[in-house]
Amino acid sequence: MTAEVHTLAIPDVHDTFDSLSPITGDVVGTWPVHTAEDVEAAVQRAREAASWWSALTFDERAEHLITWAGVITRRIAQLAELVHQETGKPHSDATLEAAMAVDHLAWAARNARKVLGRHKVSAGLLMANQAATVEYRPLGVVGVIGPWNYPVFTPMGSIVYALSAGNAVVFKPSELTPGVGQWLGATFAEVVPDHPVLQVVTGRGETGAALCRAGVDKLAFTGSTDTGKLVMAACAETLTPVVIEAGGKDAVLVDEDADVDAAADATLWGACSNAGQTCVGVERVYVHERVYDDFVERLLDKARDLRAEDVPLAKMGPMTMPGQREIIASHIQDALDRGGKAVLGGPEAVGERFVQPTVLIDVPEDSRAVQEETFGPTVTVTRVKDMEEALAKANGTRYGLGSTVFSRKRGMELAQRIRSGMTAVNGMISFAGIPSLPFGGVGDSGFGRIHGPDGLKEFTYAKAIARQRFKPPLALTSFTRTAATDDRLTQIITLLYGRGSTLQK
Ligand code: NDP
Repeated sequence: MTAEVHTLAIPDVHDTFDSLSPITGDVVGTWPVHTAEDVEAAVQRAREAASWWSALTFDERAEHLITWAGVITRRIAQLAELVHQETGKPHSDATLEAAMAVDHLAWAARNARKVLGRHKVSAGLLMANQAATVEYRPLGVVGVIGPWNYPVFTPMGSIVYALSAGNAVVFKPSELTPGVGQWLGATFAEVVPDHPVLQVVTGRGETGAALCRAGVDKLAFTGSTDTGKLVMAACAETLTPVVIEAGGKDAVLVDEDADVDAAADATLWGACSNAGQTCVGVERVYVHERVYDDFVERLLDKARDLRAEDVPLAKMGPMTMPGQREIIASHIQDALDRGGKAVLGGPEAVGERFVQPTVLIDVPEDSRAVQEETFGPTVTVTRVKDMEEALAKANGTRYGLGSTVFSRKRGMELAQRIRSGMTAVNGMISFAGIPSLPFGGVGDSGFGRIHGPDGLKEFTYAKAIARQRFKPPLALTSFTRTAATDDRLTQIITLLYGRGSTLQK
């Protein structure tokens, strides 16, 4: 299978780079480094494809997209194997990721007409002679730059919403997962063979930077906050709008009335699944003092047998990006240097390719392990006197991506008060699997939304049309307007609003 994908990706004369297995270091595939000229040419081809694709009806596009969903689904084992090869993540996690992406694909395709299609809005009393409609038109060509940690689910969150809205897409996957990106492009091309509606360009950061400057109508970036700033600066040169889905430092709040066992179970999975390399993974927990000891005991109990390893049914895989180990080690060391304790794992948990679960307690709030994205299977657990303190601390970083609340009575209230784009109540990362919910952050976690109706609208512009149905009784927008017309207008507006607020009535 690798060879098949491999040959798809090598055109004529190009610099190449290898994608490697993070488990063995073996070469998974060799890929072209697409130059700025290649990227520009892809965007030009995409522009032609976009005019064909956008002229289709929503239902026609949906038919192609649902067919694609079927192809991906039937080959999900093949895709999961490729994800496993390039990221090292267990097959079951890769399958889950792909399944969720397919669910989003189907939702976006099926709901685009309802969300984006033309609909009537009230013209208001003053303009009652008008028929007012709004519809959401595709932007044209959308550039998508994706990360390696969820190389299917994450970029597809932009790709399928942009496609469903009628755009063509040029996708630049991470240099660690080009094979997965190529696979997605190749399967789409089987369904839509005659028009390059979805193209994949491969390479390193420079190829991504070239995509920002290639004349796309919007750039959807998912990756680290620092790279997001570079992307935004590059896009600013051409006033290209951006969506930035960046990093996070997600917190879990555990209230005194919480199901402590469920909270511990969810925390462990949220912190350690995908070896902690999850943008909405758990990195901090704030636990009410009345249940703190119980929570820590249960968390450690559940974590005891969890290991990152290279065995067929491993629950945790390796670090996909070798450099991440140093960041994780430095966060752990900083926490310990400042008086924190490792009740599980610690500096020795950071191995050559695998990092074992680490639970840190008594870590000061200003330490790196609490303030900066660690992106490893580590979590800090902090005792708080009440949920007010938990909220203040949860909201005390520059990030605001996801969050979780475990509470029987106050779940909704606490959720609303956390400054983050998404919150799961008595669950874990559940919002990501609900296609009708928007996904995105605030603060250093970025801006703009993928998924749901907001995610469809993100890749469109609102088109407003006011159609005159009959001549207006008052000619307001004409130089024939008289003093009598002005008086009449004043009377009407006074009647409507002269008595002040109508909200109290
Ligand atoms: P990076 O920021 O390192 O890279 C993201 C993408 O940007 C890659 O495709 C990368 O290419 C590309 N890139 C690198 N330099 C440039 C540049 N100058 N101009 C344009 N593109 C560039 O992130 P990672 O791939 O390491 O992903 C992990 C990060 O992503 C974490 O911070 C995580 O939190 C975040 N993330 C956020 C999500 C969200 O939805 N908010 C979801 C998933 C992850 P290359 O790899 O070839 O260098």
